[in-house]
Amino acid sequence: MSFLPPNYHPLFSRGEIAQRILTLGAQITQSYKGKPLTVLVVLKGSYVFAADLVRAIELPINVEFIGLRSYGDRMTTSGVVEITMDVKHPLMGEHVLIVEDIVDTGLTLDYLIKNLRTRNPASLALAALLHKPSRTKVEVPIDYLGFEVPDKFVIGYGLDFAGKYRNLPEIGYLDPPPDMA
Ligand code: 5GP
Repeated sequence: MSFLPPNYHPLFSRGEIAQRILTLGAQITQSYKGKPLTVLVVLKGSYVFAADLVRAIELPINVEFIGLRSYGDRMTTSGVVEITMDVKHPLMGEHVLIVEDIVDTGLTLDYLIKNLRTRNPASLALAALLHKPSRTKVEVPIDYLGFEVPDKFVIGYGLDFAGKYRNLPEIGYLDPPPDMA
């Protein structure tokens, strides 16, 4: 793709991603049959994944959005998380499925899960497109996982570098990694 930098390396193609999401959608459909499901999309990185995932779920779901900001850069995720846009909808008594782009250190999701638990949902589960197991600081149970990735800075399919490349229809990484300073 012509707009990509020379240090870009492809990881997962559009076809591989589409195939994986169909499988995840089928699993979610099975798990939540007969239960009211709220899919909670964490902005901004998961909007592309969520758009495809919800269309692979064959249930009458409700879709909500939450905005989070993690302080620190990628190399030094501090664990200090701010909710920049909260869900308008009460989650009490609902089956909530969080949709996140990537679990890296796990600090952001750990914060979000603890926060959402205080709202007394009937159940809380997590769908993550990517997981970087080598960077884990806090174990976060991922119920529906797209792909494991190596310790590389990944972009595309909703994931950005400095606000760019979210519109890349595949997933790849930048190596050498970008200067995050
Ligand atoms: P955490 O370290 O708390 O698990 O991840 C925090 C956030 O950092 C993620 O939700 C994601 O937005 C961002 N992040 C972590 N690793 C990467 C990466 O390799 N590429 C991109 N674009 N963002 C990442």
